[in-house]
Amino acid sequence: MVVSQIDLQHLRRCVELARTALDNGHGPFGAILVDAKGRTRYEDHNRVTDDDQTLHAELGIIRWAVANMAPVHRIRATVYTSCEQCPMCAAAHAWAGLGRIVYATSCAQLTQWLSEWQVPTTPVAMLPVDTVAPRVVADGPAPELEAEIKSLYEARYRR
Ligand SMILES: [Zn+2]
Repeated sequence: MVVSQIDLQHLRRCVELARTALDNGHGPFGAILVDAKGRTRYEDHNRVTDDDQTLHAELGIIRWAVANMAPVHRIRATVYTSCEQCPMCAAAHAWAGLGRIVYATSCAQLTQWLSEWQVPTTPVAMLPVDTVAPRVVADGPAPELEAEIKSLYEARYRR
């Protein structure tokens, strides 16, 4: 599948959430959960602090979905993210039985930009979703949003 105009609308909301996260002192990452009827059911953004590095936007989405949606609805839902899921979130996504993923920028792009800015590497290898969760359909990146998201990362990570 390709990234459609409707997908792009949802991804733009993820970018807004990423900006909110940045404005609140967190990493610039946002994600939303859209059900089979196209309704946004839940939104979250990165809430990472020095004390808890696991509070990723996608993990918030997954916890909400597990608590509020039956498996039959989870598999038909789509998770949109400003950045492709890290391996922790990709694994949790697959174990939770969620459906399609659409991301605006990829782990490979983020890794490359962090390397350009000489930011220390993350404690987790940034494997693509296709590797971590091979049965999950994942579409992206969306070149239309690349420059805007890169600027958010730059504001957060470049020293
Ligand atoms: Zn993650």
